[in-house]
Order: sequence, then C-alpha cells, then structure tokens
Amino acid sequence: MQTVVNIPETDKQRIVIIGAGFAGLTLAKKLVDKGYQVVVFDRNNFHQFQPLLYQVAMSGLEPSSISFPLRKIFQKKKDIHIRMAEVIEVKVAEKYLTTNIGRCNFDKLVIATGATTNFYGNEQIAKNTFSLKSTGEAMYLRNQVLRDYETALITRDYEIRQKYLDTVVVGGGATGVELAGAIAELKHFILPKDYVELDNKEVDVYLVHSGERLLPGMSQKSGAAAEEFLLKMGVNVIKNTTVTDVTEDSVTLSDGRVITTKKVIWAAGITGNKLAGLEHAILERGNRYKVDPYHKLVGFEDIYAIGDIASMSVPDYPEGHPQVAQTALQQAHNLASILISGKMKPFTYKDKGSMATIGRNRAVVDFKLGHFHGFFAWILWLVVHLMALIGTRNKIFVFLNWVWNYITYDQSLRLILRASKDGKWPS
Ligand SMILES: Cc1cc2nc3c(=O)[nH]c(=O)nc-3n(C[C@H](O)[C@H](O)[C@H](O)COP(=O)(O)OP(=O)(O)OC[C@H]3O[C@@H](n4cnc5c(N)ncnc54)[C@H](O)[C@@H]3O)c2cc1C
Repeated sequence: MQTVVNIPETDKQRIVIIGAGFAGLTLAKKLVDKGYQVVVFDRNNFHQFQPLLYQVAMSGLEPSSISFPLRKIFQKKKDIHIRMAEVIEVKVAEKYLTTNIGRCNFDKLVIATGATTNFYGNEQIAKNTFSLKSTGEAMYLRNQVLRDYETALITRDYEIRQKYLDTVVVGGGATGVELAGAIAELKHFILPKDYVELDNKEVDVYLVHSGERLLPGMSQKSGAAAEEFLLKMGVNVIKNTTVTDVTEDSVTLSDGRVITTKKVIWAAGITGNKLAGLEHAILERGNRYKVDPYHKLVGFEDIYAIGDIASMSVPDYPEGHPQVAQTALQQAHNLASILISGKMKPFTYKDKGSMATIGRNRAVVDFKLGHFHGFFAWILWLVVHLMALIGTRNKIFVFLNWVWNYITYDQSLRLILRASKDGKWPS
C-alpha cells in the first residue's frame, strides 16, 4: 500500500478537491476557513486560464500572464493544503485516493478534473496533431510554430516548404475559430516583418469543420458572422467535412482532399478526465459523471463533481450544462453554499451569454436578448476576459500587452525556448 501524503490529521472534516481549474479553485477559495480542512490536488502548481491559451500559442501573451501560482492565492490561509500531484484512483469504499505522491483519505471528495482533448480513440490523430488544453501544450505549439517558420526559411523546395508554412485547424467551435483567426493575424502582421524572405502568399490557414455552420454552441448569426470574418482574413473555411487521416506531414479530408502540412491543431471536441475507481459511476455523453441537482455523483455518498466533468440533466439542459467557465464557477458557488450551510439548494444555471473573438476588432456575442458582432463585441470580449483573469498583475500585464499589440501590430514574445539541461534541442 502507498505511503500517506504528508497532511496533518485534525478533528475537522477533510474535503479533498481534485483539480484547481475554474471549478475546483473557486470551491477551495469559498471553503477555506469555513470549518473544513481543505486539500487540493492538481498536476500543476498553478491555475490556468484556458480561454486565452490560444494567445499564448500564437505568441500574443506570456504563459505567466494567464497562469496563477496556487500557493500565492492561499498564502495567508490556514487549513488548506495544496499538493502538486496526479490523482490516480478513488478507493470509494475505503474513502481514500491514490496519487503519484502517496495516498490521501477524505471525508468528502469533489471531482473537478475538467476535460481533455477528444481524439475519438484515433491514435494516429492523437500522435500527429497538436492540442490546446493546457499551458504546456500552448507553449509546445508556440515553439513548433516558430521553429517551422525558421525551417521554412532554409527550405528551397516549394513542396516541402508548404509543410512548414501551412496550418490546419480542425473544429469550428470557439477554440478553433479563435485559433484560426490568430494564425491568420500572425500571417498578415508578423511574418512580413520577421520573415521578410518568406513569401506571405505561400502561407495558408485552413479551418475544417464537420458541421454546416461554425460556432455550433452559439446562434446562427454568430456562426455566420465568424465565418465572414475568417474569410475576410484569408482563412480557408471548409465545412461539412471531417478529417479521415493525419500523418506526420499531411491531413486527409472526407472529400478526398489531402493538405500537406506538419501542423494540424485538433480542436474538435473534449472528453471528461475520468478517474479509475469510479467505474460504477454513470457516465453521460462526453464522459461526464452524472450528478444530481446538488452536485452529488449519482449512486455515491460524499462524492461530488463540478465543472466540465459533471453532467446534470435538467429540463433546460437535458444533456448537461454547457462546458464553459460560467458553469464551473456557478456550480462551485452552489456546492460551497451547500457544504457550508447544509441547506440543499438545487443548482440553477444563469446563462450570461457567450462570445468568441476572431482577430483584432472582431468578435461575436450572444446574449439572451440578442446577438451583436464587430468592434463593440470585441471590446466587450476584451473587458470580460480581462475581468475574469486571476490576479491584478495578470490583468495589468494582459491589458498592457493588448494595448501594445493593438498600437504596434506586434509583440516581442516570439522566443523559441529550449527546456533542456544543456539548453540544446534534443537531436
Ligand atoms: C482553448 C480553450 C478555450 C476556451 N475558451 C472559453 C471561453 O472563451 N469561455 C468559456 O466560458 N470557456 C472557455 N473554455 C472552457 C473552459 O475553460 C472550461 O469550461 C473550464 O476550464 C472548466 O473548468 P473546470 O474547473 O471544470 O476544469 P479545468 O479548468 O479544465 O480544470 C481542471 C483541473 O484539473 C486538473 N486535473 C485533471 N485531472 C487531474 C488528475 N488526475 N490529477 C490532478 N489534477 C488533475 C487539471 O490540471 C486542471 O487544473 C475554453 C477551453 C479551452 C481549452
């Protein structure tokens, strides 16, 4: 049996939270100093703001601007213990977890593990594509994008050069649309300045989407406006088409087309981060744990799930609430209130609207009362995302970055960083 993780045993009830994303972190902040001993496990020692990952990947923001160290958030708090670890299994009957640093018992357990990229079981696609669910992946993509431009510069053969210059984004949801827009901006504003020797016209950006319209989670008008914006930016939007194969340097589409590229970014779906030991839990679509209106895992005692990993079926959302930050935050607040007060208040979701941005000056916004797009939608997108970031420093840095970028059409963040002992690339 594993050794016990070094956490003091007290007479307080121990609540263990797995995951310090929007849901887990918000819950921990609410529960701390409220009579429980709170233990938070996350594989990272920081919280990551996923909505802006694409800007890190495209060298628009530094990773530290959208990540926040967990220990700093709780610096002056007692009775909270943060452990950077991978949770492996839940021992339901014995009420403890196994992790890569030891085991940890719990009185109550909250699963807030979020979701990861869904490759639909296709190992070939998983191996040969890039995904964007974490700061690490965003940095990896950023390095690759910049290295590919360096390689293109020294590649004389036209055909081979295309592999390094072209990018295919798969998935026309918010992540895919925002990414495609950001890559198009890189092409138009950065490449002509940084890589004057490259012919900008050789750079192609594709967005491949299986559905009839982009942004399926938003209104028809938003989907249409996003498509129009992308087309204006020179993105090749390919709809009603799926990817059938991806190799190291090409992608094959369901219409038979083959695009030569080394960069396929997979943004075509997510799947819940399940945990071993919960095989008897009811799994809903997208590998989400079925919970009751009080966030309790159906069929379990003292185990809860919130955020992207949870699925609560209610008349307005029979397939569960949207997997967005607002759901995670609101569920965390409701569960905190139940755990602190003991009052069983069923969860109700307040839809505050949704938005996506497509490059500078362009965004689409859906509110309950209607839709709008263009410059004011973009300003609103900026304000909402700025306010949602954790930490005053991050807010200021991101704001200054955006202002600088807006004025100069440029950023100075295009470093290819080598994270190795001797500072060299692995051969
Ligand atoms: C690129 C991108 C763009 C997005 N844009 C938007 C947007 O514009 N607006 C919006 O509302 N939503 C957006 N979302 C969705 C939003 O980020 C998620 O809905 C939200 O993060 C869900 O919060 P969560 O706490 O459930 O999960 P997460 O934020 O994913 O947090 C889960 C945490 O659990 C940790 N974890 C997982 N498994 C383990 C384990 N076994 N052991 C230890 N730790 C573990 C992870 O490290 C992570 O910190 C976007 C998502 C992505 C990926």
